[in-house]
Amino acid sequence: MIQAIAQEMYDKLEQTVREYNPAADFKQIRAAFEFAAEAHGSQLRKDGSPYITHPLAVAQIIAEELRLDSESIMACLLHDCIEDTGATHEEISKLFSPTVADLVEGVTKLTRMNYTSKEDEQMENLRKMLIAMSKDIRVILIKASDRLHNMRTMEYQTPDKQRKKSMETMEIYAPIAHRLGMQKIKWELEDLSLKYIDPVGFREIEKSLAGKKEEFGDVYRKVEKQISDRLNEMGIRHSIKGRMKHPYSIYRKMYRQNLPIDEIFDLFAFRVIVDSVSDCYNVLGVIHDLYRPILGRFKDYIGTPKPNGYQSLHTTVMGDAAVPFEVQIRTEAMHAVAEYGVAAHWKYKQDGQGGGSEGKYEWVRRLLENQEGADAEDFIHSLKIDMFADEVFVYTPNGDVINLPAGATPIDFAYSIHSAVGNRMIGAKVNGRMVPYDTTLKNGDIVEVLTSKTAKGPSRDWMTIAKSSEARSKIRQWFKKEKREENIIQGRSSFEAELKHNGFNPKLVLTEEHRAALLKRVSFHSFDELYAAIGYGGFTAQKAVNRMKEELRLFTKQAAEPAPAPEAAPAKQPEAPIFPDRRAKSAEGVVVEGLDGCLVKFAKCCTPVPGDKIRGFITRGAGVSVHRADCPNASDARIRPEDKGRWLDVSWGGTPRETYPTTLEVLGKDRSNLVLDVSAALSSTKVRVAALSARSLPDDNFVLHVDIDVKDIYQLNLVIRKIEQISGVTSVTRPAG
Ligand code: MN
Repeated sequence: MIQAIAQEMYDKLEQTVREYNPAADFKQIRAAFEFAAEAHGSQLRKDGSPYITHPLAVAQIIAEELRLDSESIMACLLHDCIEDTGATHEEISKLFSPTVADLVEGVTKLTRMNYTSKEDEQMENLRKMLIAMSKDIRVILIKASDRLHNMRTMEYQTPDKQRKKSMETMEIYAPIAHRLGMQKIKWELEDLSLKYIDPVGFREIEKSLAGKKEEFGDVYRKVEKQISDRLNEMGIRHSIKGRMKHPYSIYRKMYRQNLPIDEIFDLFAFRVIVDSVSDCYNVLGVIHDLYRPILGRFKDYIGTPKPNGYQSLHTTVMGDAAVPFEVQIRTEAMHAVAEYGVAAHWKYKQDGQGGGSEGKYEWVRRLLENQEGADAEDFIHSLKIDMFADEVFVYTPNGDVINLPAGATPIDFAYSIHSAVGNRMIGAKVNGRMVPYDTTLKNGDIVEVLTSKTAKGPSRDWMTIAKSSEARSKIRQWFKKEKREENIIQGRSSFEAELKHNGFNPKLVLTEEHRAALLKRVSFHSFDELYAAIGYGGFTAQKAVNRMKEELRLFTKQAAEPAPAPEAAPAKQPEAPIFPDRRAKSAEGVVVEGLDGCLVKFAKCCTPVPGDKIRGFITRGAGVSVHRADCPNASDARIRPEDKGRWLDVSWGGTPRETYPTTLEVLGKDRSNLVLDVSAALSSTKVRVAALSARSLPDDNFVLHVDIDVKDIYQLNLVIRKIEQISGVTSVTRPAG
């Protein structure tokens, strides 16, 4: 059942699309139209027209203003099907294409989003989130066109809804249209919104503008001819176009500068486009020669471009009949930036200083260039939104939007709220569920931080989990203030480790007599101060050692000279290879003396890893069981006399396995976030965690068993050190026996 009016609109749509894209898939477009008409059935709009006229009108906007591809047109026609009729994603996907179904679903998602009025910064984030959430830019384009048509037909809604939708349009959709270079759509959205937000003001301006146009129409036409004639005389190639400013831009000026409309100068503006920059200034000379410039109204945005890259000369002059008007003069290239230069604008907004890559926004330019014709089907496929790829937008439980760097975690979120929130954090929830601290936040997540007044503060590994420099520096601040003693110990041990790593003996070089000379190099007053700074991360051990190197070498040499110390040679590399002979016949990375290629398994009681001293036990029929040498089960005392002969020497060698399972036992004082901290520490070391179980012990103690897969003892020791650093942890051991 297709109503005559719908058929008529559809025919017009098809004709419009055919004009810019004759290769469009009209069979499928028609099928989408018929499907939508069927789905909406006898549903009516508020004005009494068949509902299908709305999707048709939206598709018409998309075709006329943006010249989008077949899939977009289909998605426009189907855009309210999921929301309003029983249609499903699968159905649309099967009948049309998965892309069309995704587009429709994307539009539906945005339709369901609910906005309440917010502060400016919040609005900015909300707009960005909206764009970021619609992975395909076409979703936003369709949604904006949908909104435009709804605004055009808003008069049939209740006054309350009119105001609400208009505010939303003004705050969300008009700025988005602006960013996407849809200047015409933006203006119309603004004017339509203003009509409902301030009906009296709007009508006044509209009336006044119509009056001025009527009154001065002849004057403007004369001016245009005057300018054009003079430029022709001078042989300056140009195009000139005059236009009435649109009501909302006038309204904003009146409101901002608190002026009555008669005192707004530039109700009318001419735009002159020329070939070169020098011509721009020539035209300016001509204008100022023809008309009297109004003082203080000349702006040279060519010499000093706006931060968003906009370039143009602006001047306001007084015409013959004392009618002021504005003239904007620019080159073709500057005009392109002014019209389509959304990219530059975004870039500026994003990092506040105008850096960034131009290529990132290439698609916007292409989108707009494409309006000049060319192949609509082709380019649109690559229109994937990526301008906010390095940001993520999440909600607070109150619905505020927080903007964080991509990859941000609950720790970043907490510190972006306030350092006190971060420092008191004892847990985090995402979308209502408890999560570990290293969870990566996604667009639209609702994040909640659990805090406690008795929280012990951040742990050191938060510094590596946090992605934002804000969070890291706040954590560092905390350590600097709260943990001086701990910092000194920590800093000292990293400093001494760094010395050893560089082949210096701390005992030899850090004597009382040397200290002053060394400190001079790093501008700290005492070694405690230096250690504290290294401890909280304000300075690095590497930097300190590097700066002291000359002295360190000298002191080392001096120490060696009087009596050449037998152990003067630099410390042996601690990380001697664990698997010395890759050719040895082995299984699982273990060489069994005298037994080639026998079955090897690792004892569950002590879970040895490469680097451990090991012993092998020949089991009855199950190969060789490998124990740590220090495992009680392998101690001589426990070996039964009849089994003595079954023990044999084994060593690490041959081709190792990728990882070896092992177990750690963590003892600590019970506090609610300790398990989370441990799992966060583990994930920061990238080892795989096979199991993690916690048990409470009397007196507020607890024990945690962690099964992990590690490469070797070095990696294991790293993990142990990480866990040991967590506040509340009293010991980390490897159970055996
Ligand atoms: Mn709609």
